[in-house]
Amino acid sequence: MKIKVLKDILGANEQLAANNRELLDSNKVFAVNIMASPGAGKTSVVLQTIRALKDKVRIGVIEGDIASSIDAETVAKEGIPVVQINTGGECHLEANQLENALNNLPLADIDLLLIENVGNLVCPAEFNLGEHRKVLIASVPEGDDKPFKYPLMFNTVDALILNKIDLLPYVKFNVNTFTKTVQNINSKVEIFKVSCTTGEGIQAWAKWLNAQMKQR
Ligand code: MG
Ligand code: ZN
Repeated sequence: MKIKVLKDILGANEQLAANNRELLDSNKVFAVNIMASPGAGKTSVVLQTIRALKDKVRIGVIEGDIASSIDAETVAKEGIPVVQINTGGECHLEANQLENALNNLPLADIDLLLIENVGNLVCPAEFNLGEHRKVLIASVPEGDDKPFKYPLMFNTVDALILNKIDLLPYVKFNVNTFTKTVQNINSKVEIFKVSCTTGEGIQAWAKWLNAQMKQR
């Protein structure tokens, strides 16, 4: 019985995600669902992406958190439209919450929508929001064994950002092992090695993202 209930939830979510995609497409908005564990640097990557691309494209942001609007306030300082979703305890975003956020954004004035999901490597992978691309941020201090522990998440994404590479000299993390493990799980994934502190790798990531938007 429990399985049936879960199927119903996911089925309803899929329908709402399809509606969101239609709304995004009709407004020519390219949406990216950014997922990661807490502290991997989602908001830092969002900020760096804004700074790298805001002269080329009009950007909007949706911040998903269990509570608070700290991240939305940080992003708003960049002078772009931002909406905060508080899930009130839920550990992932669902399509109905995204629909609500989309209704509160000036979609006609946005080309690229960055959606920062709730920090969690498990269920965000199961809920489509209507996004065009899924991106995972992993970070060096989390260790190189995460792909073994969360295979669905690593399998489901189009791009993987390995953040905090400036910490590699101080942390036990084998980039080659990590990369090979990820590619075994997901042969199509694009991998970017990035540091939001030094700015290394940000241009390569931003270039890929811009190309994905144009290619659509
Ligand atoms: Mg954040
Ligand atoms: Zn969840």
